Amino acid sequence: MPNKVTQLLPSTPDGVATAADLLGEGGLVSFPTETVYGLGADATNDTAVARIFAAKGRPSFNPLIAHVADIETAKRYVEWSDAAQKLADAFWPGPLSLVLPLKQNTGMSHLVTAGLPSLAIRIPAHPVAHQLLEAVGGPVAAPSANPSGKISATRATHVIDGLGGKIEAVIDGGDCAVGLESTIVGLLGEPALLRPGGVPAEDIEAALGAKLKHDTSPDTLLAPGQMSSHYAPGAAVRLNATDWQVGELRLGFGHVPCDLNLSESGDLIEAAANLFRHLHALDRMEGNRIAVSPIPDQGLGRAINDRLKRAAAPR
Ligand code: AMP
Ligand code: MG
Repeated sequence: MPNKVTQLLPSTPDGVATAADLLGEGGLVSFPTETVYGLGADATNDTAVARIFAAKGRPSFNPLIAHVADIETAKRYVEWSDAAQKLADAFWPGPLSLVLPLKQNTGMSHLVTAGLPSLAIRIPAHPVAHQLLEAVGGPVAAPSANPSGKISATRATHVIDGLGGKIEAVIDGGDCAVGLESTIVGLLGEPALLRPGGVPAEDIEAALGAKLKHDTSPDTLLAPGQMSSHYAPGAAVRLNATDWQVGELRLGFGHVPCDLNLSESGDLIEAAANLFRHLHALDRMEGNRIAVSPIPDQGLGRAINDRLKRAAAPR
């Protein structure tokens, strides 16, 4: 990725407005939340979300939490429920993420959900985060603002140390208060604790009037990398295809004849942005075998290959 100058923005109305503009243009902006500094991108922009993974140097695509300013915005993207309303009333804004069924055709990037039919969503309490989300008016995907494998950033200078030159800006909001990740509760079937965090499980059970399932079996824990039955196309997948066999659906990379191309110019960010969308689209086509061109195993290519290997694994 070309080096750029990362702006340090003040947490004033002007700074927040500049940050919202940068996000609207597909830029990456780090902002303070009550947990840690988040690395934000417009959650409806595939390329912007792909750049999050590139900037963090993540070797795999895990689903990201979508941050929104209010419940009305959340409801545009997920199927709301009584349980969701109870937990939102009790803990939003705050460090609780709810995993809910994803509505179809809302424009949410498939890269945010890692191709899953569910979405993790939360309303952060930090005033600067909140002002930013209001100014954006839509969902912002934001994992922690640190290079993959490094510790989370709890002040703006940590973000600059880790990601300076790779992102457009950081809003300086001082030190983060909680320093813990958000608690993640799955509301897809029986309520389940998917990750402990800033809101204690007991408090969630009290608000729900029900116990949380604590097991992390593949059915409850829908986080890829931690489960085998993560989204994979129904079709069988053949990797590193340098020629095509009769009857195969062809997922290309680079200048090759194919049904769908991840990136004709061989751009890995573009390929990542297209990955889940193309897999879904091929899965809907006639045919039960998908062949994929070789993808260079460097930068974002490693995360793409990780996902493709899972899709190709016997099941
Ligand atoms: P964070 O590390 O705070 O950005 O949170 C990201 C984590 O949230 C992922 O690694 C998953 O464990 C979890 N997550 C996000 N989206 C989903 C989802 N749709 N289903 C299950 N878990 C999710
Ligand atoms: Mg993290």
